[in-house]
Amino acid sequence: MSLTARQWLERIRGLDLPGKVRIMNVCGGHERAITMAGLRGALPANIELIPGPGCPVCVCPEEDVYQAMQLALHEDIILVAFGDMLRVPVNLPKRAVRSLEQARAAGADIRPVASPTEAVRIAQDNSERPVVFFAAGFETTTAPVAAMLAEGVPDNLSVLLSGRLTWPAVAMLLASEDAGFQALIAPGHVSTVMGPEEWEFVVRDYAIPAAVAGFTPESLLAAMYSTLRQVREGRRFLDNCYPEVVRPGGNPLAQQHLQQVMDVSDANWRGIGVIPYSGFVLNETCRAHDARVQFRSYADDARRRVGEMPPGCDCAKVVLGRIYPNECRLFGTACQPRHPIGPCMVSDEGACRIWWAGGVREPAGKADRASPVE
Ligand code: SF4
Repeated sequence: MSLTARQWLERIRGLDLPGKVRIMNVCGGHERAITMAGLRGALPANIELIPGPGCPVCVCPEEDVYQAMQLALHEDIILVAFGDMLRVPVNLPKRAVRSLEQARAAGADIRPVASPTEAVRIAQDNSERPVVFFAAGFETTTAPVAAMLAEGVPDNLSVLLSGRLTWPAVAMLLASEDAGFQALIAPGHVSTVMGPEEWEFVVRDYAIPAAVAGFTPESLLAAMYSTLRQVREGRRFLDNCYPEVVRPGGNPLAQQHLQQVMDVSDANWRGIGVIPYSGFVLNETCRAHDARVQFRSYADDARRRVGEMPPGCDCAKVVLGRIYPNECRLFGTACQPRHPIGPCMVSDEGACRIWWAGGVREPAGKADRASPVE
């Protein structure tokens, strides 16, 4: 039975919930859909929607952005990267080159790409020069990079991989003293690749209701209703509210490509620290195309510290759902999309930028508790 968004809202409003319920949505695409459709304001006041760790650009560790910048500045290469990465600021002195965009302005050959196919084409068109593909992303973005490598790439193309898995970040939150949410909207695209089963641990290990959602208001509200009803009835299960795209087992071919060319290891998340088994790394079969092997390291220990967001930027708390974007005191004042302080204001998947695009302009006042997470 397919219901309209209005009908799903009526059902949600009709639930007699035991108290306040906080629902975390993991995916930046979900956050965008929720904000643009104004779903927060349409829900009863006792239901809060918390944006979670769904922005791969936001959590890409500073040392990886720094390495990409230094390679582009000091090696005779073409560096290609997804467009969002170009404006991500690195925490360096003001007069230094602080982003890939600034490195390009300083003369580095840096080109934005939208897909691995474009990276391959640039390598084919410039066969006399090394091309480094700085590939940062979650499972959905990393799987096509794996497919590209598994199928074979030009000799002059290598990959600086900064891939991350989403579920370990949610597991880390749930294992903490106060996860801060009682229900989970699981990401649709990630589940398409890895299978909805990847989120079963949320129900099994933490007794938190979860539902996979698509990107329409109807699908998101259906997932919210499913989890809220579970809270209401004391039941717990993983629901798939995106069955037209998300199939049991996910995409076996994409998973096969990932396993063929990558391993999973502990990985650093910007501003958060190392999360066990949360990163993709290229395996031995890809040594000839691993930029970390083929080029010198510009690693700077100062870039490896945990608290590596720019001063005053609360992006790490935003990513972990500890605060809402407009609870950062720089939101809408010093930090705006035209002059972002932190990565959450740069990426289309960053909660700060999404809230700004959704019309939120002011930092939350102390009395404004309609939105902020308690
Ligand atoms: S508003 Fe800007 S400074 Fe504040 S958390 Fe977001 S990105 Fe960081």
